[in-house]
Amino acid sequence: MSTEPLNETALPPLGKTRKTHYKPEKGHIEIDHVTVDFGGGAIAVNDASLEIMPGEFVCLLGPSGCGKSTLMNTVAGFVHATSGSVKVDGVTIEAPGQDRGMVFQQHSLFPWKTVCDNVAFGPLMAGEGIDSARATARSLLEMVGLSAYEKRFPGVLSGGMKQRVGIARALANYPSVLLMDEPFGALDAQTRAMMQENLLQIWDEFGITVIFVTHDIDEAVFLADRVVVMSASPGRLIADIRVDLPRPRMPAMATSEDYIKAKQQCMELIRVESLRAFEQQRATG
Ligand code: ADP
Ligand code: MG
Repeated sequence: MSTEPLNETALPPLGKTRKTHYKPEKGHIEIDHVTVDFGGGAIAVNDASLEIMPGEFVCLLGPSGCGKSTLMNTVAGFVHATSGSVKVDGVTIEAPGQDRGMVFQQHSLFPWKTVCDNVAFGPLMAGEGIDSARATARSLLEMVGLSAYEKRFPGVLSGGMKQRVGIARALANYPSVLLMDEPFGALDAQTRAMMQENLLQIWDEFGITVIFVTHDIDEAVFLADRVVVMSASPGRLIADIRVDLPRPRMPAMATSEDYIKAKQQCMELIRVESLRAFEQQRATG
């Protein structure tokens, strides 16, 4: 069998996929004075407070190493805050849970399972029968435009397609929060643009809260309701920029006044922060 990646497939047309079980009443995130200190002088997150309303799409933007993943991981339950608290729908986060789906930069699919069974894995572990779990998987694969590949193995898929399976898998337990850590960082520009539109389509249909980590300003502005900017290490939240572009977002909006204004605001903040980080690294060498 050829190991060449298959070509990208077309995305499902808008409105073709089913509507969510979830209304944006769930997925309320409260990050309250969170500090994460790994010891050895490294404070990864410094007194971060942020409230995200159900169904909001928030991008966390900041220079590399500023603590974006660490902050997101406190919401995921992989990292414990040294002080402060994180709540989702009023419940303090102490461990990972099915209410929060994760998508990472590098896909983490099981290579020995078919695409369908990769997506069905979560519901199966949660106690669904195999037929029901596979039915859920198939409906999610339809949403990400990969129905034709359900019987294939991850090894034959392109990078973009693997990430689409990763998104389907993260959604398979119908979480109220989707946490995405630079999920499109390794993709080429065209695939990335297509993935962004597909993600917005899914977000719209699911009514799910999204925290999306990126260091790409254009990506943040294109996707987000709010862009939250993090400072260079030790990571503080320094700006919360509302993006007032209409939805559905279209690539052509990148030339609109609101888009350019939000982008310029982010660029200036990131430029100052990146310079500061650079100076800091040079000083501590
Ligand atoms: P970003 O995602 O913005 O690139 P991270 O959250 O991965 O940044 O890292 C922030 C800082 O915390 C970095 O200095 C990193 O080296 C440090 N760090 C991250 N995870 C750990 C860990 N498990 N133990 C010690 N230091 C860590
Ligand atoms: Mg990171």
